[in-house]
Amino acid sequence: MYDQNLWDGVLSSMGKFVDEKLISTWLKPAKIAANSGDNITILVPNKFYKNWVEKNYLTQICCVLKDDYSIESPVNIAVMDEVKAIKPQSAAVQPSKALPLLDVTYTFDNFVNGNSNSFAYNAALAVADGNFNIYNPLYIYGGTGLGKTHLMYAIANKVREKFPKMNILYMDSDKFSNEVLYTLRTGDQSQLQERIMTMRNRFRAVDLFMLDDIQFLKTRVRTMEIFFNIFNDLHISQKQVILTSDESPQEIDMEERMRSRFASGFQAEIHPPSREERVAILMQKSYELQIPVDEQISFYLAENVATSNVRELIGTLKRVSLYASVHNTAMTVELAETALRDSGQLKKANVIVTPQQLISVVSETYNVKLSDLVSKKRTKSIVLPRQVAMYLMKERLSLSLKEIGAHFGGRDHSTVKYAVDSIKNQLETDEFLREITNKIIKKTFG
Ligand code: ADP
Ligand code: MG
Repeated sequence: MYDQNLWDGVLSSMGKFVDEKLISTWLKPAKIAANSGDNITILVPNKFYKNWVEKNYLTQICCVLKDDYSIESPVNIAVMDEVKAIKPQSAAVQPSKALPLLDVTYTFDNFVNGNSNSFAYNAALAVADGNFNIYNPLYIYGGTGLGKTHLMYAIANKVREKFPKMNILYMDSDKFSNEVLYTLRTGDQSQLQERIMTMRNRFRAVDLFMLDDIQFLKTRVRTMEIFFNIFNDLHISQKQVILTSDESPQEIDMEERMRSRFASGFQAEIHPPSREERVAILMQKSYELQIPVDEQISFYLAENVATSNVRELIGTLKRVSLYASVHNTAMTVELAETALRDSGQLKKANVIVTPQQLISVVSETYNVKLSDLVSKKRTKSIVLPRQVAMYLMKERLSLSLKEIGAHFGGRDHSTVKYAVDSIKNQLETDEFLREITNKIIKKTFG
């Protein structure tokens, strides 16, 4: 499969161009697929390596192959297919290909289990161990980058291993939505109902259905309706369903009958990881990504990173490692600081912003009275700043909708939710609003 001799040879010749340490970081983990004629494929552990190797070493690798081995075939760099384990078991549902390939295998073993996620972790593990109808549906929710998809994959991997006959289907909501649209739009309108039924039947053949990020369905009424039918089909036949979302079933903006259905099983929230958990996650990832990092750097990153998103946390680790190789130095705390600052992730030292401080900066910036801002007044000039304050309390202070409502005269969580969503949407198009929100953020958080 792999031509280790050839690769070892290439690596030793690469010493002419590249520092030994860089070779061992970037090229040692790679493999070269046995030469099958037309193409040479070099396999690297993940996308990050792929980009880096392509950008920095591809030319030299080609030179070495040509000069030392007379190999002139085109060389391409590909990511190792490490997730063969979770290829979909059945072809029950077409045309979508169930589990997409990821750079790393997501399992329970490489998921750091701590207070912030143990509820979700244990429920996921229980399902994966075969308790299929107890937590049904299992609804996992929490902010972006907190490990929801990781847990779903972990379940898929474990179930495949323990129950190879089970028909597992993972989909993210976009894929699902595309599949529904395809069914709705392709073919004769007079046979629409039949096509929908055929689709439903295919889904019925699934034993374990996982739908990731269902919040993306909430604006797609037709897709939602079809999903709801499929959900009910599966539920009636006691098939296991697992859903994830960034909001709880109570908060998510969907029809009541759907919300109550999704809430009828087991709900588990994932919270942002504590500092200790962040350290543990960094150590775990450094091992997986083969980025040798000592505890001091991990502690520094875990302590000083401004985000609670684990994906971004891992991004800062990669950045430090990248800087170290670019500058050809060891990873130091100084480099870690630069990496955090460059990515805008450096937390301002010891700043704990209270909701009151944030509200008062909003009132100053918009030049409205603080007492008006927290009142029930519906004047236009006050509604927008109030919504901005609510949005920032949710996004930056991670308060719950209920907590936020309490700061504004005990408003209902749905009102707060409406405000948060509305600002989120407007920020995408409204340059002026973006500017003013950034100003408030700067003033409040530094
Ligand atoms: P979400 O689906 O919630 O947005 P993901 O599951 O995609 O988040 O996780 C983002 C990244 O963070 C992935 O690389 C995942 O492996 C990692 N991650 C998140 N939480 C943990 C954890 N507790 N232990 C190990 N890795 C984690
Ligand atoms: Mg996800």
